[in-house]
Amino acid sequence: MTSEILKLEGVRKQYPHTTFPAVEAIDLSLHQGEILSLLGPSGCGKTTLLRLVAGFEQLDRGRILLDGRTIAGGGRSIPPEKRNLGMVFQEFALFPHLSVAENVAFGLKKLKLKSDEVDRRVRETIALVDLEGFHNRYPHQLSGGQRQRVALARALAPRPVLMLLDEPLSNLDVQVRLYLRNEIRNVLKSTGTTAIFVTHDREEAMAVSDIVGVMRQGRLEQVGTPEQIYHEPTSRFVAEFVTQANFLNARRNGSCWETEVGEFDVPATGELMTDTGDMMIREEDLIVKPDDRGTITVRDRQFLGREHRYCLLMPSGQCLHARSPELSVLPIGSRVQLSVPQNAVRVFPRAWSNEEIGR
Ligand code: ADP
Ligand code: MG
Repeated sequence: MTSEILKLEGVRKQYPHTTFPAVEAIDLSLHQGEILSLLGPSGCGKTTLLRLVAGFEQLDRGRILLDGRTIAGGGRSIPPEKRNLGMVFQEFALFPHLSVAENVAFGLKKLKLKSDEVDRRVRETIALVDLEGFHNRYPHQLSGGQRQRVALARALAPRPVLMLLDEPLSNLDVQVRLYLRNEIRNVLKSTGTTAIFVTHDREEAMAVSDIVGVMRQGRLEQVGTPEQIYHEPTSRFVAEFVTQANFLNARRNGSCWETEVGEFDVPATGELMTDTGDMMIREEDLIVKPDDRGTITVRDRQFLGREHRYCLLMPSGQCLHARSPELSVLPIGSRVQLSVPQNAVRVFPRAWSNEEIGR
């Protein structure tokens, strides 16, 4: 077992003059070399949690331990500069009047290293983020992606115990974002750096991290590997935020749940006392077959490269989305039948608010 780098116990923070805490009841543990993503809609408390770890905000309950020592809580708060953390933010916070090499060297000043050691580390770190040959450029002479790589190098050079990255890719073009998320993971992994990566993009969270923490209204709703979060969401919120899924009305009948696409003998997820629930069926789990006598109509079709995505009109009037890698194309207006493997569905308590998504 690797050592525990970060531990949060019952952490809570409410800003003055607000009605609800920005984060509440947060328990979290992160081990050496792990990358954790904090995933959730805007306003759910991701940045606040990161700032509490960084020491820019004071918690009002709970405790934070870094590398075994209490850095916040119990009347104690170690100032940010003494926490030995590396940080990268959404906006490109480089010093405009310093060159790439000088920006990276800046973070090393406080370590009081000999100048040849500083030079060596600057060269090493710039090579790590693939910016050799850019040492003497200034930030305005770099692209957005290159600037974020300098920011990453600057944060990594002092070899922090923990890296905090707050939506570092949000201001970049989609192409650069896809490329850079792999590069960030590679750099963190190759240096064995423990990190928290904040994002509101589910795919980014799963691609970058070993563990995903899904946040909702200041609380950690579920923590698990990307596979666990995707395949075994423990709440409808996580299911809806993380997977692309359909939700159907389901009615209990003995041990089964009845829906418009059939009966399923599955237990409900979580505590479900009522006889009605919402059944989740992922788009890729719906099996669509042409059938002239079917009661379901293909209303629309999108070509997504690897697959087609169909919008299917059910007799009830609800539309279900299905993804199919089949090469044969179902024409719009044609009739189909649907089947779903028994083990592909999950039943959740009925949602009382969908508007929250994307709040
Ligand atoms: P996220 O990063 O997930 O978008 P934030 O941590 O920025 O969320 O915000 C969480 C909640 O706290 C939001 O409701 C936000 O409006 C509120 N909040 C953030 N910063 C402050 C502040 N300095 N003062 C008061 N409320 C704040
Ligand atoms: Mg934020």
